[in-house]
Amino acid sequence: MAKTKPESGTLNRISLESMGDYLDGPHREIREEARAALCRPEMAPVDPEITTPEYREKVLAWSKLLADEKLTVRGLPASHGGGGDIGGSIAAFETLAFGDLSLLVKTGVQFGLFGGAILHLGTRSHHDHYLADIASLKLPGCFAMSESAHGSDVQSVKTSASFDYEGQEWVIDTPTKADRKDWIGNAAVHGRVAVVFAQLKIDDEEHGVHAFVVPIRDENGETLEGVTIEDCGHKIGLNGVDNGRLYFDGVRIPRTNLLDRYGSVSESGNYTSPIENPTRRFFTMVGTLVQGRVSVGGGAISVSKVALTTAVRHGNLRRQFGPPDGGEDVALLDYRAHQRRLLPLLACTYALHFKQAEQVEQLDAVFSGEETEEAARRTLETSAAGIKAFATWHAVECLQTGREACGGIGYLSSSGFAARKADAEIFTTFEGDNTVLLQLVAKSLLTGYREEFGDLNPIGMAGFVASQVIERVVERTAARELWGRIWDEITPDSEEDGDLTDRDYQLALFAWREQHVLDSAARRLKKGIDEGEDSFEVFNACQDHVLVAATAHIDTQVLEAFSRAVDNCDDEDGRSMLSRLCDLYALSVIEQHRGWYQEHGRISSTRSKAVIRNVNTICDELRPHAGDLVEALRVPECVLPEFGPGGLKG
Ligand SMILES: Cc1cc2nc3c(=O)[nH]c(=O)nc-3n(C[C@H](O)[C@H](O)[C@H](O)COP(=O)(O)OP(=O)(O)OC[C@H]3O[C@@H](n4cnc5c(N)ncnc54)[C@H](O)[C@@H]3O)c2cc1C
Repeated sequence: MAKTKPESGTLNRISLESMGDYLDGPHREIREEARAALCRPEMAPVDPEITTPEYREKVLAWSKLLADEKLTVRGLPASHGGGGDIGGSIAAFETLAFGDLSLLVKTGVQFGLFGGAILHLGTRSHHDHYLADIASLKLPGCFAMSESAHGSDVQSVKTSASFDYEGQEWVIDTPTKADRKDWIGNAAVHGRVAVVFAQLKIDDEEHGVHAFVVPIRDENGETLEGVTIEDCGHKIGLNGVDNGRLYFDGVRIPRTNLLDRYGSVSESGNYTSPIENPTRRFFTMVGTLVQGRVSVGGGAISVSKVALTTAVRHGNLRRQFGPPDGGEDVALLDYRAHQRRLLPLLACTYALHFKQAEQVEQLDAVFSGEETEEAARRTLETSAAGIKAFATWHAVECLQTGREACGGIGYLSSSGFAARKADAEIFTTFEGDNTVLLQLVAKSLLTGYREEFGDLNPIGMAGFVASQVIERVVERTAARELWGRIWDEITPDSEEDGDLTDRDYQLALFAWREQHVLDSAARRLKKGIDEGEDSFEVFNACQDHVLVAATAHIDTQVLEAFSRAVDNCDDEDGRSMLSRLCDLYALSVIEQHRGWYQEHGRISSTRSKAVIRNVNTICDELRPHAGDLVEALRVPECVLPEFGPGGLKG
């Protein structure tokens, strides 16, 4: 239950230092170091008209600079040239996301995906052989999972790795053009080695997808025999990253190049794995790579911070239209419409920031071995999928709204919106397409995180619908002890505004929506199956409903994290301010769904109007503090555009 809230009313100015430190959290020094690195003269932004080859070389040089100073390797073990600090490595990544996003993605591929695959899927000999060179960028590499025909459904990739007894080798093949590895970062120009995900075959038996270390270029950068590399070409954004396509034609690699933490093959071709079920094995392997999703979500939150800092600063300085008495023109942020566009987004950015901070600590606990419960790992995977989707969509919205809020001048490249819009929008697709990720969230909710169902991909869920698990979900939700309390707390008859800003009431409204949508989705699925319909068709017909259930779950998770962050803030003025921001976050979400709440008899029409009135009142209260609230986000000055007395400079 949330602590008693501070009185609403006039808010005192926050201390920027205190709020900034609170937001920086336990990794403040690392964030400061990364902010300082971004602002070095040699890291100055590229000219928007830079050619693609020049941009790629620039980004490689930047990556080397960061690697030389060990700024990008915190997540790798100390024994192999890293810092052994997973939480710190995400904090550094999030801070780098204030700057050039090609640099962010290039380093993410090299140290996070390529290095992470060797670390989590390989064993000691692989670590000894590769990690130090990966950490120093002596060995540039790729993470080659996606194929042209299989981007979201990576369990069905077709690249094959067949065991050759005689040579004690794997033979890697791309069966058809549709099965080439596609979009692979670092492949078009710089990568020398790729971790390739392929179907492991011994004789005629398939053992599912495994990861193999496959050299693709020699030390002089020449493509190796049997490998064909194509450049994906110019993209909407991220042109400092060399994405490429890989084809393999009978490429031979040693038997020991199989990353064998979850499946190994002896000299005699005997396959063994600690996880018997191949689908479950695959999802366990992919689950170890969850850090990538947490990183992309965190990076997207930083992008939102840059967009909102720019737009709020501009809105404070830029004036348009004056009052009829001929007085001074009005600052954009004094217009309610402008507040309504920017302040709920700012509140949501704070909300996501706090949820992300909790998630990073959970990730650190799971991967440092401090947290050993399987359930904690599964909760983390679900949360990472949901927050990645929310945060990346939120970044796109902040960039578009922020650009519009700056008017024409936001359209100049110098405002920073153009490059970030182009670069960040693909965050919604890579590291898991957002819509597909939300289906994974729904799957976890419907299965109650049960391990035996952890192996289901979104399509496989259709088959699972036929199982008795749906029944259990229905029973569980109907019988919840909490249920009665929630129901009582949110009776629609009160016409007063007061409890709209009661945190427990807000939490109850969110929880009720989550439970109701999940429960009704489960019932629909069960009904279809009971009536003998095809399980795939039933699932497909309910897909929209299932996605709403996932969304409602993430909404609740984010509000709960924000509420905890308010309670944990020691600074009194800071806590009052955060509490008001949290109200704005909660009520803006309720406002978006007020039609739904009314349809379901949870709020009256009078109360629904009160929600709108409260959002307006809170915007009024927060408006004088908007400037402070963005300054506390500590976006480094060097990545922001220039401002003059009238706002953004042209
Ligand atoms: C710039 C860039 C860099 C990348 N870097 C790498 C890399 O380094 N390594 C790597 O392995 N991959 C990389 N990728 C690939 C990336 O991971 C895939 O693009 C992504 O997983 C989506 O796959 P797809 O493009 O095939 O889209 P698809 O899976 O074809 O999806 C297309 C659309 O269909 C929808 N859809 C798909 N399945 C369903 C479903 N079951 N239900 C409802 N809707 C569905 C999706 O929501 C999406 O809107 C990169 C991609 C890009 C663009």
